[in-house]
Amino acid sequence: MATLLRCLVTAGVLLLPGLALADSWRIEPVNVVDVATGDVAEDQAVLVIDGRIDAIGARGSVSGGDRVVDGMGGYLLPGLAEMHAHVPPASRGEQYVQDVLHLYLANGITTIRGMLGEPAHLVLRAQLASGEVVGPRLVTSGPSFNGNTVDTPQEGAARVIEQFEAGYDFLKIHPGMSRESFIAVATQARQIGIPFAGHVSFQTGLHTALEYHQATIDHLDAYAEAMVPEDHPLHGQAPQWFGLNLADGMDMTRVANLARETADADVWQVPTQSLFETTTGEEPLEDLLARPGMDMLGDELRANWVGAVHNFRGQVPAEQRGHFLDARRALLAAMQEAGVGMLLGSDAPQIMNVPGYSVHQELAYLVGAGLTPLQALQSGTINVARFFDEPDRGQARAGMVADLVLLRGNPLVDIAQSATVIGVAREGRWYDRATLDALLDGVRDRKL
Ligand SMILES: [Zn+2]
Repeated sequence: MATLLRCLVTAGVLLLPGLALADSWRIEPVNVVDVATGDVAEDQAVLVIDGRIDAIGARGSVSGGDRVVDGMGGYLLPGLAEMHAHVPPASRGEQYVQDVLHLYLANGITTIRGMLGEPAHLVLRAQLASGEVVGPRLVTSGPSFNGNTVDTPQEGAARVIEQFEAGYDFLKIHPGMSRESFIAVATQARQIGIPFAGHVSFQTGLHTALEYHQATIDHLDAYAEAMVPEDHPLHGQAPQWFGLNLADGMDMTRVANLARETADADVWQVPTQSLFETTTGEEPLEDLLARPGMDMLGDELRANWVGAVHNFRGQVPAEQRGHFLDARRALLAAMQEAGVGMLLGSDAPQIMNVPGYSVHQELAYLVGAGLTPLQALQSGTINVARFFDEPDRGQARAGMVADLVLLRGNPLVDIAQSATVIGVAREGRWYDRATLDALLDGVRDRKL
């Protein structure tokens, strides 16, 4: 029965909801990138059976598989993660939600961490896991903890239990909670065993977030405030746009210490540097709008994003924006150096960050900040597996879950090659370029 089902499913005759596609195939020739070491094994064959990598070896030494996929001499890596993703709410409609998921997958993203969950996302998580819905694996937060949803420490603690029992993977922290509420949430979360992650509110402050071991700090939130010396006139001012208004007061000599303290507290970072380089950098807007993926935007969303960029750039002189970005780049480099766990995330769909495409943008910005291409790729692969404590993910090795991306060129030599996706495997399901293009064409027709 299993074999019959497998054949029917492979032939595309049957696609039962909830049925994992039992499939076996061999891809060759490929150059397999070891993201742990940066070694590349050339001219390899990779055998995938039932969603896992069964064997990897020199071409000719590995046989088996119901079919052979042409690897085209490409570079095979573990699939990437977008660790600050936004899955649209179900109220946007099923098609819109799926379009966003397709953009991720077609760009080689096989895991997303949804940063603003809702009950419908729990259902979606299961549908993505079973293959009923095409897209990356979803790890999701619940609805946000913020100044509007949490009034008192008691309310905060109760909300932790509620979301834990509902089955969310982690808690999303947004601005606005009092320090007391944050501590109550953090304490309850640690007791019950659910991670909390996201923003660091001004009332909480960086050192409290470190002390309570927030799982991730996203956007480098609260570091700008912590870089302004006590005797500076900007000290104690509330940050706007993650401290853009504090740029002139940020003391670069604090960078190394903050990186060390972060490493010591084992608090991971999802910098979403792309969000800041695009909104507060100097690259002409026409050039940003000409980037790959921008043709997916509908007029309304495009106008929104253009307006936001004008707003950020218009409010603040170029020199101050430059200092803000320099400080962020210095923090990134120092954190990598200090051994802070770095995670790839761009915040999509948000200003100038088209889902999927923006991860490649982020990789380039990380390299621009001083990470090596290997370190940048690790932030979206092996680091993610370590963060989630999933030793069978995040590498292209025998025994691992077959979440893979095939690239035309070697991203270790040129990080821009990360965008040259020619195929994606999602838990063993192979999507070739033509299939991915068909998904993208659909989104391009409908627009975001
Ligand atoms: Zn976000």
